[in-house]
Amino acid sequence: MNLPIVSTLRTLLLVTLLCLGSMPAWSLSYVMMNDRDLLSTSPLLVRAEVAQALGARSGPAGIESVYQLRIQEQMKGASLPETVELVLPGGTLDSGIGEVSYGIPTLQAGQNLLLFAQRRDDGRLQAMQLTMGIFFRLQQESLSYYERALTASSDLGNGFNATFHRPRAAAPFEAWLRAVSAGKAPASADYFIDAKQLNPWQKFNLLRGGNNNAVRWFQFDTDTPLVWTSTAVGQIGMVQDEFAMITAAANALTNDPGSRLSVTHPGATIPNPDTHCDNGTSDGHAVLWNDPFNAIPGSFNCAMGGTLANGGPCFFETNTISNGQPYNEAFEARIQIQDNAGCYFDGDMGRNGAEVMAHEMGHVIGLAHSCGDAATGSCGSAPPAAQMATMRASAFADGRGAAYMSDDRAALAFVYPSGASPNIFANGFE
Ligand SMILES: [Zn+2]
Repeated sequence: MNLPIVSTLRTLLLVTLLCLGSMPAWSLSYVMMNDRDLLSTSPLLVRAEVAQALGARSGPAGIESVYQLRIQEQMKGASLPETVELVLPGGTLDSGIGEVSYGIPTLQAGQNLLLFAQRRDDGRLQAMQLTMGIFFRLQQESLSYYERALTASSDLGNGFNATFHRPRAAAPFEAWLRAVSAGKAPASADYFIDAKQLNPWQKFNLLRGGNNNAVRWFQFDTDTPLVWTSTAVGQIGMVQDEFAMITAAANALTNDPGSRLSVTHPGATIPNPDTHCDNGTSDGHAVLWNDPFNAIPGSFNCAMGGTLANGGPCFFETNTISNGQPYNEAFEARIQIQDNAGCYFDGDMGRNGAEVMAHEMGHVIGLAHSCGDAATGSCGSAPPAAQMATMRASAFADGRGAAYMSDDRAALAFVYPSGASPNIFANGFE
């Protein structure tokens, strides 16, 4: 979450001052090992579920975070009790003093791990080679696979053993590990998966925070609607009903059959722009007409063009799990309409404005562009469905209005599957 991160940085400064010259943060640097070497040098190998995060304590080497694990299967090593504690470097003590160990993941209750470990004298487990020894079990559709959280770390091997960066199909990887642990020698390690095919970030373009997690609204899991309002003045110079455009975009999301979304626009207005999200609390989700803060410098010009609108969610940096994926939790939304853009919004009996509203609301819900910007590349080389998506970087003005196309809807169904049940672990232990 934003606020804890802020306080962690503040306390980090305090620790730096107290320790006079100690490094403010430790980062993880590594040279990639192959799986056989990692296994042969690890006294223990277990499959386990994170039962709960137990907070931070002072350990033998510094501040460490403690997690309770439920052992599901022990593949190698001396027998362990059913529940054990795992320690990882870094964390914030109850006193408010924190230590950052950059590149070490924060675990969340409900995550399933494959853990290469050793047992410390106090009985707690440590991950062998830290982040390299922790594989997270993830799910994409029917495929279970393992990945490590090494993106925040630096590989000093420059591609040495690059194969071992790839995700691993869960069942064959586990079978290989069991066989090698039992002293058998399977022919080859053919459990690797092509990340490009597998990775949901490759499949759908989603808005992400600095921690690389996509942004998701968890309130939809309990059918709690995202309720829109807007500034009372409306868009200056409009002929068509700009407020109806918000309603149309909200309805398009709510009525999408493949996803579980509830977005409403009862029509209430606010006299002045809201205060937005900097303090970590939501004061409503608002469309701000006429760009009142000049967040989009300049004005739209009906002859020359310009930027029409921007929008997006505010979120807490978390690792909240949904459907096996870690997400940042969204908590507030804003869409700003450029001043003078009314002439464009009026176009095609208001369908052009409704399209822009649906596009911006797609960003708010967590979708990035399907193609056509610096991050996603040219639409010309994108799949046809991405070219036709309402989330394409440039507006169509083709009469579609507030409509989502097949690629948009597939992304919505990926993040908010219609059959999703409330995730009891979502925030249970934070
Ligand atoms: Zn956009």
